[in-house]
Formats: sequence, structure tokens, C-alpha cells
Amino acid sequence: MGNSVPDPVDSVRTRGNNDPIAFGAYSAAPPRSEMDDYDALGAPVNNWLFFADETTTSLYPATVHGAFITGEREADRILAFLRG
Ligand SMILES: Cc1cc2nc3c(=O)[nH]c(=O)nc-3n(C[C@H](O)[C@H](O)[C@H](O)COP(=O)(O)OP(=O)(O)OC[C@H]3O[C@@H](n4cnc5c(N)ncnc54)[C@H](O)[C@@H]3O)c2cc1C
Repeated sequence: MGNSVPDPVDSVRTRGNNDPIAFGAYSAAPPRSEMDDYDALGAPVNNWLFFADETTTSLYPATVHGAFITGEREADRILAFLRG
């Protein structure tokens, strides 16, 4: 994106955390999807935009520990990026 990032034109936010029955949500893979799809969702964009959450790992998708390790993974990627 360079140094000029445009204002967003729209946004969508789920509110599962406020649902008194679910108190959250997790990913569900549709038919014909593959485990690699999870890793594709976690791919950085131009070493500038980074993604961490349970949907971005094929190791432990839809779990707390999956979400946790993606946070560590992205912290490592950002540090590597900052260190050049
Ligand atoms: C009913 C239920 C039972 C579960 N049981 C288990 C279990 O036994 N074991 C297990 O390992 N996992 C379990 N999970 C799954 C686990 O809770 C999730 O995989 C994990 O919480 C995902 O973490 P996350 O950080 O990726 O996303 P989340 O925990 O969903 O965090 C995302 C955060 O981003 C916020 N957000 C969303 N949009 C925006 C926005 N536009 N701007 C700012 N903030 C935003 C949300 O409010 C939320 O706080 C369960 C989930 C549910 C719903």
C-alpha cells in the first residue's frame, strides 16, 4: 500500500462475544476447502499487513492454542520485518 493508506469504505464486525449463548465464535471450514486454506489466510500482505487468529493456522484451527501460536508467529514476522 505504500505510505498512502486510504480511509476504509466499509467494515464488518461480528458480535458473537455479546451473544449470551455462544460468547464467541470459531471458524468452520466449508465443503471442498483444504487445510492449506487456513495458512493462506495467515499470509502477510507485502510484509506490511499481518494476520493472527485461529483462522490462520492449519495446525490448530478453531482453538485458543491455535490463536495463541499465530500471535507468536506474527510477532516473529513483524520483528523480522523491523530488523530488515
Ligand atoms: C462456544 C465455544 C466454545 C469453544 N470451546 C473451545 C475449547 O474448548 N477449546 C478451545 O481451544 N477453543 C474453543 N473455542 C474456540 C476459541 O474460543 C477460539 O478459537 C478463539 O477464541 C479464537 O481466538 P481469536 O483471537 O482468533 O479470536 P477471538 O477470541 O474471537 O477474538 C477476536 C476479537 O476481535 C474483536 N473484533 C472483531 N472485529 C473487530 C473489529 N472490527 N475491530 C476491533 N475488534 C474486533 C472481537 O470482539 C474479539 O474480541 C470455543 C469457541 C466457542 C464459541
